[in-house]
Amino acid sequence: MADYVDVPEKGEDYLETPKQAAKIAFRMQLSAPLTLSATKEDVVSQKGSIGFELVAAEEFRSDAKAFELAMELTPIGIDTSILWYYEIAKRIKIQPVRIGRIRYVYPRGLSFSYTGAGLNFGMPQVIEQWQKADVVVSVNDWMTVWNSSYWIFDETEATALKAQVNVEDAVEIFFVYDFSPESMWGGGGTWGLGSANSKIITSDGNARGGIDFTHLAHELGHAIGLPHPNGSPGVSTGTLMCPSGWMNDNPQINSQENKENVSNPLFTFAFKRITAGPDCTDSADCGPCF
Ligand SMILES: [Zn+2]
Repeated sequence: MADYVDVPEKGEDYLETPKQAAKIAFRMQLSAPLTLSATKEDVVSQKGSIGFELVAAEEFRSDAKAFELAMELTPIGIDTSILWYYEIAKRIKIQPVRIGRIRYVYPRGLSFSYTGAGLNFGMPQVIEQWQKADVVVSVNDWMTVWNSSYWIFDETEATALKAQVNVEDAVEIFFVYDFSPESMWGGGGTWGLGSANSKIITSDGNARGGIDFTHLAHELGHAIGLPHPNGSPGVSTGTLMCPSGWMNDNPQINSQENKENVSNPLFTFAFKRITAGPDCTDSADCGPCF
């Protein structure tokens, strides 16, 4: 297991998380064959059972031994008509966290202000880039940290800010007004790459700058397990996972390889409307990072 450090290394905006490969065997047993109509959209219900087995090698970690989980669900209803329009997607929840500030403004009285401009700024590309990889992102309601010391944020505050909110089933994204220095971490950092504890701290300076539309999509890519592509297997150059630095947009491109390698224990499964797939296959196909 790698040492856990609390600040991304120089030049990086994410932390590696120790990972362990595991296999999951999924079984669905119907009590009788489905009868499908080739001529019309049918809804067919059939009883059956679902079970799965998760197998992880024992030698890597003492706390993740091979184990088996099984569940029985009966009856299950399978609506065959939706399969014409929908495909299976991975769903990840994000928990946006803003900083709240109260000031007394004479003569009007108390004035409330919040960070969080980066969410609306970043979400269109989060949706567009990740739906190419069949990842659906759902957004919880805002949570607010009432501590104006985080309004202008420096890296010594990272541990304390991250500890303010822990939502078990979501990736927390903390939006501060500005970083000090402004260009720190290229505008955002991600901790716990690909883990259930993954957290992002990002600056609303990205939104005010109006340039880096893929910033949030890129950081979320780290949260769902993808490091930067240079020198790392399983991540494509020429895609939004290329590091861009401060006030530069990442390529608005996603790849089949990225799609195949996203991982996070927080993923649940959902149906999504069928959309266009990735733009390119792998590094050779997607081109270099500039
Ligand atoms: Zn990055």
